[in-house]
Amino acid sequence: MVRAKVTIKSMMGIVLYAFGFFFMVLAAIAVIAFFQENRFTSEIATTIIIIFVAPGTACIMLGNRIRRRIKRFKQYIFIISTSGINSFEGLAAQTMQDTAFVKKDISSMVMKKYFASAVIDWQNNRILIGGANAAATPPVDHAVTTTCASCGAVLKKAPGMPVTCEYCGSVY
Ligand SMILES: [Zn+2]
Repeated sequence: MVRAKVTIKSMMGIVLYAFGFFFMVLAAIAVIAFFQENRFTSEIATTIIIIFVAPGTACIMLGNRIRRRIKRFKQYIFIISTSGINSFEGLAAQTMQDTAFVKKDISSMVMKKYFASAVIDWQNNRILIGGANAAATPPVDHAVTTTCASCGAVLKKAPGMPVTCEYCGSVY
């Protein structure tokens, strides 16, 4: 199985979270230790904030940002793969978000290579999955429906044949 970029990004989000949590635990341990020895001063508090709390908060916020972006990415893919809606306006309505936000969000996902192969159709304000190769995909006989384990896209595949997810690039 080929790992999708979105899976790697998702792991990155978890690692950042774990780091952030670790920093916060260290901060708590340091505070408790200095308190117990009656050596807790404002200088020490500042040092703990700079060394542990600030990077910890940054890691958690970044991890959270990635996690939320991945959630939206999967949401868009689910809508596109099940309903065929691929316009920014349609996706915005489906996800109850602002069209301008969805446009910015999806173009940044395309730029960050969340999609295996996608281009923005600026003229019609929509995303085209598969980019230039979309029309070249051969029709699948006796197709069965399957769900991509990486991105949640609903895909059609021939029974017993490997399938490449056109959304995230995973190969099963
Ligand atoms: Zn996928």
